[in-house]
Amino acid sequence: MTSQRGTKGNTIRKERSEMKKALIIGSGPAGISASLYLARSGTAEVTIITNGKSSLEKAEKIENYFGFAGPVSGKELLRNGRAGAERLGVRFHDTELLELNITPSLSFEAVTPDGRETFDAVLIAAGAARKAPPIKGLKEFEGRGISYCAVCDAFFYRGKPVAVIGSGEYAMHEAVTLLQTSSSVTVLTNGEEPAGSIPEGIGYRTGKISEIAGDSKVHSVLFEDGSSLSVEGVFVAVGAAGSDDIARKTGIASDSGKIITDSGMATNVPGIYAAGDCTGGLMQISKAVSDGAIAAMSMIRFLKNN
Ligand SMILES: Cc1cc2nc3c(=O)[nH]c(=O)nc-3n(C[C@H](O)[C@H](O)[C@H](O)COP(=O)(O)OP(=O)(O)OC[C@H]3O[C@@H](n4cnc5c(N)ncnc54)[C@H](O)[C@@H]3O)c2cc1C
Repeated sequence: MTSQRGTKGNTIRKERSEMKKALIIGSGPAGISASLYLARSGTAEVTIITNGKSSLEKAEKIENYFGFAGPVSGKELLRNGRAGAERLGVRFHDTELLELNITPSLSFEAVTPDGRETFDAVLIAAGAARKAPPIKGLKEFEGRGISYCAVCDAFFYRGKPVAVIGSGEYAMHEAVTLLQTSSSVTVLTNGEEPAGSIPEGIGYRTGKISEIAGDSKVHSVLFEDGSSLSVEGVFVAVGAAGSDDIARKTGIASDSGKIITDSGMATNVPGIYAAGDCTGGLMQISKAVSDGAIAAMSMIRFLKNN
């Protein structure tokens, strides 16, 4: 049960189950900032899904953010940001978002290793897009056998052998998606140990990749030990799903890996907003915090009207 102050000072009580549900992907400055506005508005139950890998973790000394007499570390800002959000009732789900789907009733389904949950509005605050691993041939064959989205491109590899580069939960999720259509799926961990168990029916190789080879299209993956694997498609899924992966799968418009938003941080998909580094521009805390606040105000309006 939560309570909310009415305009005349009377207390309006709302059952949690009656409340709308807002999802924020990411607990960096953009996601946390949005969560504070959303939680205080009382419009929705607010959940943050986060795998805790903000780029701020790497910032040892911050001297250009409002309110600190001396330098502050990124880790300290993140710790305090989370504590403040938790104090306001924001729920943290410490896991990895594998996929975001739009349901037939136009709500949003978040898929994590723990299961599926549906939300009424979503903010993507997942930070800057991931960089592709430095493997020879990856850039050259993009669109000619190299893909970054199983659900988008599996169709083109029906009955064909494919590989997925990656070693985490996200790579396994992509491999399982491809198994439904491709003749064989091999996960290539490129020197890493697989983070969990390999799903049934999927092969894996741990050798270091030296090159993706082909002529007009990809035909094989070459390994440093001199061996090779014949494939017609290679799907890149290194690390966790990034903001660009989430955008691709939900039909959100982006440009050079940056999600396109209007001045209210709304994407082209009604109900999905984006904030912070994933939208480009000044990649700094102050801009991420501002984006988060603007997005939250738009989400509050959306949740009230839908
Ligand atoms: C070394 C370094 C130093 C910096 N120094 C400064 C500085 O001095 N001043 C300054 O203003 N800025 C600085 N920055 C930039 C600043 O860190 C970023 O602009 C800011 O963190 C962006 O905030 P964000 O919320 O958009 O993204 P991030 O802080 O990157 O947060 C992204 C969030 O998304 C989550 N996430 C991503 N994908 C998933 C997934 N699939 N599932 C679950 N969670 C996911 C992550 O766990 C994280 O919580 C620095 C950056 C670096 C790398």
